[in-house]
Order: sequence, then structure tokens, then C-alpha cells
Amino acid sequence: MIVTVQAPAAAALLRGHPWVFREGVRSIRGQGKTGEVAQLVDPKGAPLGWGLYDAESAIAARAFGAGTSTKLAKLDERRLVELVGAAVERRRGIYDPSHTTALRLCHGEGDRVPGLVLDRYEHVVVAKTDGAAIATWIDRVAPGLEALLAPLGVSTLVLRIDAAEGAPKIRGLWGPSAPATIDVLEHGMRFEVDLAHGQKTGAFLDQRENRRRVRALAADKPRVLNLFSYAGGFSLAAALGGAREVTSVDSAARAHASAQRSFKKNGLSLEGHRFVTADAFVFLESAKKRGERFDLVISDPPSFAPNERSKRRALSAYARLHRACVDVLAEGGTFCAASCSSHVTMEELLGTLDDVALGRGDLSVVETFGPPPDHPTLACFPEGRYLKLAIMR
Ligand code: SAH
Repeated sequence: MIVTVQAPAAAALLRGHPWVFREGVRSIRGQGKTGEVAQLVDPKGAPLGWGLYDAESAIAARAFGAGTSTKLAKLDERRLVELVGAAVERRRGIYDPSHTTALRLCHGEGDRVPGLVLDRYEHVVVAKTDGAAIATWIDRVAPGLEALLAPLGVSTLVLRIDAAEGAPKIRGLWGPSAPATIDVLEHGMRFEVDLAHGQKTGAFLDQRENRRRVRALAADKPRVLNLFSYAGGFSLAAALGGAREVTSVDSAARAHASAQRSFKKNGLSLEGHRFVTADAFVFLESAKKRGERFDLVISDPPSFAPNERSKRRALSAYARLHRACVDVLAEGGTFCAASCSSHVTMEELLGTLDDVALGRGDLSVVETFGPPPDHPTLACFPEGRYLKLAIMR
């Protein structure tokens, strides 16, 4: 099919923006079925690239390998696998495989393969699709992905699926069946990943470098509070870094069980460490009342802003959370505040950490960080830069 886009959408595509919004479509020729390959052309008919069409979504088409240099290569199964190959190549040499065995091989839009995420955990790769268009392609590209990934030591590819409560959230695409959990290394730290029932593709790989930073920060921080701890990645990092008492807070009990197993796998005793199943806001309130103080507080909540409309409410939730965090921060302590809301920019996050928001005037932002190198972003696509971390002391 041919999708003619409006002039502003054409300009955006040329800059490398991968999305054509519905209002950016001038006309379509062809069936307009979800998952159909669409040639994208400007109002004068000049070719802009190839994408996948979505009949329902507000994002009418997503361009693959967008940008002027690749615009003429027609999109088919082979081309899609070729683009994944380029994504894998982009990661060459960034991690030492003897220390890090969990890595994002393909980061969707950021790798110009919109809607397709591939996370490697040891010999297993977990695919996750975003949007109905790419979902119709996954079984067809699976053989090509096998040819690409098997020589790299990958034996199994599974797909994340929506499953009934308690049922495994993965379906095999090729290779022997994946184990329900798998142990990986992250900068030498061992942790258990729940492939069958975990969040995302099993783990939050995007926080890898920040966990390493926390490990270094914890050297002189005896008491650490890790809020929204999930499988305990930041907690492990803090304990390995030297923290004596790490308190992990998450509303999911299952995640704590996994965190505790990972502590043991790293030769750490559970003594002194607490795993609290609670709402983080409620925990902070009661910790403050009890007069508890922590030398390092880490806050990594789920996205508060699923869309632009919810942003105002999200920003006030961040502000409320951050104030409660610094209320339990000991004198001279360090506060790590993360946000994974793509609609919240770094400046907006910092706006929830100013003196009025925190109710005190003694903390400075010492460092800020974005996503790690296996989560690349496109220069013209700020939506992709969802992960932010500010460190204050
Ligand atoms: N820091 C983690 C990832 C955090 S994901 C890591 O490095 O791997 C967000 C977590 O917040 C999830 O585990 C979810 O169960 C938990 N969560 C969501 N809402 C919560 C709340 N109100 N209080 C406590 N935990 C919450």
C-alpha cells in the first residue's frame, strides 16, 4: 500500500522520526490492513521510506530503518531481520560477556525497528511487541531471527504474551522451552530473572548502569532504602557495595521472594536486610513517624504519566513522593530519584526536586543520567528518552 503523508509528517520522517500520526496521513492507497507494508511518500509522491500500517492506532504507521539513507530498501521479513542485525551490531563491545549476560539486543524505535524489543538473558531471548502491526509479523520473522541469533549462542526465542493471571506470560517461537526463571550476571552481580511471570521482559535492564552507580555510592552508606524495589536489583547493588541494612519496599510480595534468592546467590546474608510488602507512600509516612532515617534513598516508581493528559497529576505525585523521600533522608544522605515516564522530561523531573517541592534548601543535584547504551534513542524522538535519574546530596 502507499501512504501519502502531510508535509510536516514528511519532514519529521526525513529527520528520522519513526511515527506517522493519524492526522499526518493525507491519503492511503491499498487495503489499509493492520500489519500491511506501506510505502511512505510525501505530498508530491517522493518516497520517504517503508513502514507498517496500523488501521486502529493513533500512530497510523511506523517507519522501519527511517531516514534518507535507507529509504529505498523495501520492508519484508529479510529487511526486518537485517535491521535487527544492525541493532545487535550497535551493541558490539559495549559489555563484557563474562560480567554481563543480560542485555537489550533491540530497542524498538531507538534501533529503527519500531515496536520490537529483544532482551537477551543468557541463552534465552525474550521478544516483546508494541502495537498490533508488528505483532502480526513476529511468527514470520522468527526463522530469520533464529539464523541471526543462534550463531551468537542464543538457543531459545520466546514471545511475551498477555496471559490469564498466574499463567506463564511467554510463548515459545523456537528452541527448547525457556526456564521459568534464569540467573544472569550484571556487571558481575548475579540476579534471578522471572521470565515466565516477571514484569517487562522479566527484568528492568534499563536501570543496569544506575544499579552499578548505586553499588559505588553505597560504600559509605550503612542504611539504604530502596523504594519500588521489584526483584531487588538496587538492593543487591547497595548490599554488595557495602550497605549494612537495606530496606526494600514493593507492593509485590513475589518480587521480594526473588530478591531474597538473589541475595543468597551473591553470597549475601539476609541479616540486617528488610523486605517490606507495602505501598511506598504509606511506608514513607510510617517510617517518618517512627523517626527512621536512611543514608541513601532510591526511588524508582512505575510510570506515573501514561499519556500527556495525565502529566500534571503525575508531576504532583512525583513531588509528593520526593518530599516524603527526603523526609527520611539522614543528614548528609544521598537521594536517587528516577522517572520512567516518557512524557516527563528531565527538566520537569527536576522541577519536582526543587526547594519548594522538597521543603528544604540544602540539597544539590550532583549528577543526572539517561538511558544506557543498549537502550539507544533517536535524536529527533524525545519520546524514546523515558528513563531519567537525578542524584542529589
Ligand atoms: N527498581 C526496579 C524496577 C522498579 S519497577 C529494578 O531496578 O528492577 C516498579 C515496581 O514498583 C514494581 O515492582 C511494582 O510492583 C512496584 N509498585 C508499583 N506501585 C507501587 C506502590 N504504590 N508502592 C510500592 N511498590 C509499587
